[in-house]
This record gives sequence, C-alpha cells and structure tokens, in this order.
Amino acid sequence: MILSKNPYTGETLQEHKESTSEDIDKALEKATAVFREWKTTSFSFRSKLMLKASEELKKNKQEYAETITKEMGKPIKQAIAEVEKCAWVCEYYAENAEAQLAPETIETDAEKSYINYAPLGVIMAIMPWNYPFWQVFRFAAPALMAGNVGVLKHASNVMMCGKNIEKVFIRAGFPEGCFQNLTIGSKKVEEVVKDKRVKAVTLTGSEGAGGSVAATAGKEIKKSVLELGGSNALVVFDDANLEETVKTCVQARFQNTGQSCIAGKRLLLHNNIAEKFTEMFLKEVKELKAGDPIDEDTFIGVQAREDLAKDLEKQVNDSVEMGAKILTGGVRKKAFYAPTVLKDVTPEMPVFKEETFGPAIGITTFRSDEEAVKLINSTQFGLGVSLFTKSREKAQNLIPKIEDGAVFVNELVKSDPRLPFGGTKKSGYGRELSKFGIREFVNIQTVYFK
Ligand code: NDP
Repeated sequence: MILSKNPYTGETLQEHKESTSEDIDKALEKATAVFREWKTTSFSFRSKLMLKASEELKKNKQEYAETITKEMGKPIKQAIAEVEKCAWVCEYYAENAEAQLAPETIETDAEKSYINYAPLGVIMAIMPWNYPFWQVFRFAAPALMAGNVGVLKHASNVMMCGKNIEKVFIRAGFPEGCFQNLTIGSKKVEEVVKDKRVKAVTLTGSEGAGGSVAATAGKEIKKSVLELGGSNALVVFDDANLEETVKTCVQARFQNTGQSCIAGKRLLLHNNIAEKFTEMFLKEVKELKAGDPIDEDTFIGVQAREDLAKDLEKQVNDSVEMGAKILTGGVRKKAFYAPTVLKDVTPEMPVFKEETFGPAIGITTFRSDEEAVKLINSTQFGLGVSLFTKSREKAQNLIPKIEDGAVFVNELVKSDPRLPFGGTKKSGYGRELSKFGIREFVNIQTVYFK
C-alpha cells in the first residue's frame, strides 16, 4: 500500500493499492493504442481539449488546491496559485504549439528540404511532490500538444494529486489513455522505463533519482530529460535597492516553505551592505506567518514529510559545528522547521554546498565582483542565479561568467511558460517550457526532395 498522509496533522488521508505488473501492461497497451489515433489529430483539436483542461483547473481550483495542501502541506493560497499557473501553461501550449512545431523549410541544394517535428509516442514522467500539479502540467501540456501520450509516476506521498491530474484530462474530454496515472513506487520505475512501448522519460527530483533513471534510459537508448536540484545564489551588490531586494529574497527563499528547486538558497552579500541588509532581512523573516497550511493567512507551512525536515535540521546543525551562526530559527517540531537564517557561512558547509530543501538560508559575504562570481559558480548545481544591482552594465558584464541555466536581474528565478527552464552541471539537462520544452520529445525529422 502507498499512503497519503497529511504532514501537518499526521492523519492518513488515503491508502493506494500499488499497480501490479499486469496493471502497468494494460496501461501501456491502452496508451499505445490511443497514441495511434492521437498523433493523427489536428493541433486545433488538441488545442480545444487543452483549453478545456485549463477551464477545468480554474473552475475547480479550490478542490485541487485543497488536495495539494492536505497531502504535502503547501499553504492553501500558494496551492491555489499553483493550480492557476497550470491553467496558464495549458493555455500557453494550446495557443503556441502549432507554430512551435510547424514544419521549417531549409534552403539547401535539394529541390525542397524541410524539418518535421513528429511525436514519439508514450512518454513517462517521474515527478516530485513539491509542486505536485505544476511539475506534471509543465510536462503534460507540451507533450500532449505535440501528439505524444503520457504516463505518470508521481511521488509516493502525493498519489491523490496524481489521480486528480488524470481526472483533469478526463473531465476535459481527452481520450481515455492519453494521460494515465500509474500508482507505483520508485522500485517499479525501471520496469516501465525498460518497456519497449515507452519511448522517452522525464524526471524532476533529486540527483540520486535522476542518475538512476537516466542510467536505465541510457542503457535502453532512450531520451531523457532531467530537472534536478539547485542551490541558486541571491547576490546583492552594494548599489542594490535594499528594500525591494529584501522582499524579493524573502520570497525567493521562503515561498513553498523553501521546497523549490529554483529557490534562492545562498545569500551572497557585498561586504559594504551586509550588516544593514542582514538586519532588514531578519526583520522580514521573523514576521513570516507560520501555521496550519489550510488557513488563508499562513505563509510557512510544514515540510512535505518529517524526514525532509530532519534532513534540513542536520544540514543546519552540521554547518553550525563548522562555524556558522544561527541568527533566527534552527528549531524543528515534527515536519515543521522554523524559518532559519545563518551567517558566517563558507563554501565547505552543507548549507552552501548541498541543496537545502526547506526554509533555511546561509549568508556569505564578498568584497569584489570576481569573488561574487567565484562563489556563484562554486557549487555542483547550475539552475539559476539572481543578481541585485542598479547597474545594468555590471549585470551584463557578469552574465557571461555565470554557468547556470538562468540569470535573473533584480528578480527571483521563476518559471514562465514562455521562457526555457532547466539547468547545467548536477541540476540536469534538457529544457522544459517555451519552444525548447515542446521540442524535447519529438522526432526532429529531416525531409529532402532531390
Ligand atoms: P526523490 O528524488 O527521491 O523523488 C522524486 C521522484 O523520483 C518521486 O516520484 C520518487 O518516487 C522518484 N524516485 C526516487 N528514487 C527513484 C529511483 N531510484 N528510481 C526511480 N524513481 C525514483 O526526492 P525526495 O522526495 O526523496 O526528496 C529528496 C531531495 O530531493 C529533496 O530534499 C531535494 O533536495 C530533492 N528534490 C528536488 C526536487 C526538484 O524540484 N528539483 C523535487 C523534490 C526533491 P517515490 O516518491 O516513490 O520515492
């Protein structure tokens, strides 16, 4: 049995019977059969259904959001915003997929030569619990619009969300089998990835899970896309607008109770403003309202599972042993970890060099642009960076020196359907969203007429 548990109350919400190998076989058979029809449908047909999915999400956002909140502890307002963002990505691909996948004529010595973008077939998605709707929709909307079909293995603690997402597509009128939720734990993933009917795989989650799935896919010569962890730096230069920057940095680190791959996890402050900024930042952090995630005014909920809060507690405590000082927080009660700020953090400490997946942030200071760049890049991850400065020229000069997949200036790193999203180094490979995301799972077919 796979259990859905409310991490705030500890209550068991639902028990899910795990799919057997026979169930998986039936699901893949159904997916393969529906793909034969689905790939022949027009963009306008798929687009109408995708817009219906968007309407369904908007109409029943409260219902869907409450399941998110109960299953993984996300404060309800943020859960509603997540469902609304899913509606947006459905609309975005409903409106743009046809143009993004239109055949492209290329002038060569042929009489006519062009590129076709053809769907691949059944794509498997292995998804995490931190944005249990968004992570799935940002895969599903482009994949289905491209003419593929999807099977989902959701994180074990958010199986109710997985079932609800399948329901969204059914309610929107998609053919049965276009998008199916498999109720399986991670042990069964290999069997599905290896199945001949599955053509490619995408995973969002930890480095360990990504490496393991990519190894299986690699052996089978199947395409994979990996969106893994991050340790984004929030870099505040001495000419930044401090008031606005403090607010943005607090959001960047503490929204979703700190459980986001693109959260700002390392606060790098120029020495000249470090003291003032720290004081202002601390004041805001101490005012964050923690409480029952179902209450509308709660901003900090609980971690999605108690073990995740324990992991964070260990990273903080180990860093303190190495010389970091706690300015606020540093206490845990079951799955709740209090918003925590540390200073005197150095690159060897766990809160700097590892991904911290919860409401804790370490402060490190720098004296020059060169030192800032060195600190930004001295992590195994490469998802994104935020630079805070009034000087566009300074930012522009720094960008080529940064190794990450995204650089945001005077803004937190966020995903937007119109912009590519993905990382470098241990943050993974491939891109989601925008025209790059929809082209990950297609056959880029060259056609040549002599
Ligand atoms: P995991 O990476 O273990 O889980 C993500 C997904 O991968 C889940 O569906 C999980 O299934 C599945 N999975 C896990 N291991 C394997 C495997 N060996 N083969 C196939 N599938 C697998 O994340 P955790 O929940 O354990 O979180 C641990 C840490 O991972 C976090 O603290 C954070 O650092 C990072 N993380 C990063 C995310 C991101 O957005 N980049 C999202 C979530 C976590 P199951 O739940 O059944 O194990």
